[in-house]
Amino acid sequence: MGRPVPAIVILGNGSLATARRIQQRYPDAVIHGLAGRVNGADREYQEFGATLRELYQQDTPIIALCAAGIVIRTLAPLLLEKGAEPPVLAVAEDGSAVVPLLGGLGGVNVLAREIAAALDVAAAITTSGELRFGTCLLNPPSGYALGDLELGKRFVSDLLAGESVRIEGPAPWLAEAQLPESQQARLAIHVGHAERQPNANELLIYPRNVLVAVTTGTAEAIRAALHEANIAVQSLACLLADERDMASSALREAALELGVPLRFGARSGAALEQARDAVPSLLTAIEINDSMAIVVAAEPLDPLLIGRPRGRLAVIGLGPGAAELMVPAVKAELARANDVLGYETYVRMAGPFRADQVMHCTDNREEMQRARHAFELAAQGRSVVVVSSGDPGVFAMAAAVLEALHESSDANWHNVDLEILPGVSASLATAAQAGAPLGHDFCVMSLSDNLKPWSIIEKRLDLASQADLALAFYNPISRSRPWQLGRALEIVAQHRTAETPVVLGRDIGRPGQTLRVTTLGQLTPDQVDMRTMVLIGSSTTCVFPRAEGGEWVYTPRWYGDKPAG
Ligand code: SAH
Repeated sequence: MGRPVPAIVILGNGSLATARRIQQRYPDAVIHGLAGRVNGADREYQEFGATLRELYQQDTPIIALCAAGIVIRTLAPLLLEKGAEPPVLAVAEDGSAVVPLLGGLGGVNVLAREIAAALDVAAAITTSGELRFGTCLLNPPSGYALGDLELGKRFVSDLLAGESVRIEGPAPWLAEAQLPESQQARLAIHVGHAERQPNANELLIYPRNVLVAVTTGTAEAIRAALHEANIAVQSLACLLADERDMASSALREAALELGVPLRFGARSGAALEQARDAVPSLLTAIEINDSMAIVVAAEPLDPLLIGRPRGRLAVIGLGPGAAELMVPAVKAELARANDVLGYETYVRMAGPFRADQVMHCTDNREEMQRARHAFELAAQGRSVVVVSSGDPGVFAMAAAVLEALHESSDANWHNVDLEILPGVSASLATAAQAGAPLGHDFCVMSLSDNLKPWSIIEKRLDLASQADLALAFYNPISRSRPWQLGRALEIVAQHRTAETPVVLGRDIGRPGQTLRVTTLGQLTPDQVDMRTMVLIGSSTTCVFPRAEGGEWVYTPRWYGDKPAG
């Protein structure tokens, strides 16, 4: 089972060599370097505090190459909140010290030892349980779950006070733990999948070696069946269903509620057959009924090796370009992606990606082909992301993806977990910088006649202008469409005065962005290119000076006579 990929955060070029040595140990780790101070990091950040806190909240293991105090002060405001506690370590710039700071239960000491070994120094392990027993009893390896953390803490402090302990059940990882073992001990570590009330002197650890095969069933019914069979719900490793039920929201909810992965087998028929097929070293199989069976394996199960997952396809919007304008759901989706598809410029903008993530860059025009390719990958059980700039539903990939699905009769495509995640569209990002030019009713149009006849564009321009809607033009001009914008402006000018305010936003949210406020009378097509957003005001749109220079543009919320108050 994979561990999350660590982030190595550095403040200056002096740390780069040490960062690279750590990266050799974790090839997928991303080195974050302070912009303007570090040359050659994998990713640049602007602000140390905000970056560290964001990584922490996303549950990313953090290896910070700086003073421990800086890290502690930076993360302090987050420590009282409940939630993620990823491993956090401070490493001396020259690699001479490795200090685990936070995330004891997230395996920080394991990381500290690994990094220390890579740097050829000793880790500054301070956890007493660790030092004495060589492993943290409260953090069993993957494939095992601790029964109760609070009881566990008391148990460990009893052990530290000098008591001995009995080990019941198979616990291979404890063999090297140098525990003070004795058959007569009062304290016991009990490893097993049976349902059991812990008695006062017992540390319960559950192997995750149980699988429930279901065709239908709620979390409630699964819990009841496990209880009936005297099997602890903590030992449940995953649910297994028939691949024909991939789109079932009831099964998805059940798995979510039980906190286990939902996997799919190819075998149709009774649940018991499905389960038998999927589990290699079967210990017991219990058929509850036709639609549910419980199987217990001899060893902990790795859900990743059982059947296959439901594939996922997310069509995401990056926003205009700046990282701060990307919604968190999109960031999370990019982190979980196996495959990323899109026009090369946008795929690069969405990165950098880890070595295990596959980028599929294509030409901007091959949209339908890209959409079909995305479904083919997702139907294999992969997690696929299709990137658009701005919002994916605005002249971008979301409609192409849905069109591809609509045209397909392949059940595997329809079973994919498809989600569209929105982004800040260029018209809204541009409007926000200018003030509120779209503050009242407005009309969004693409001036590209690649996929629609020019006559319909003229008709819409004419009617929208007549209706006194503010206008937002995407794809205003390009080398292959040189005259269309001029013609469009002529049509608008038939219904609007020359003083009508116009906003031109170019590369908004990207390096070298420009914002310009002008008027319809002064606007000429040579001021506009394909990276420009054109906003044209309505008859009520106003402009007034800003204290810092330039102008504010807004379209009031009311129309006609200004309401009282
Ligand atoms: N899905 C995108 C729009 C794609 S159409 C979105 O929602 O923003 C491409 C057009 O969008 C470009 O021709 C340009 O008019 C506009 N555009 C996209 N990004 C922009 C940016 N950062 N600044 C200004 N205009 C942009």
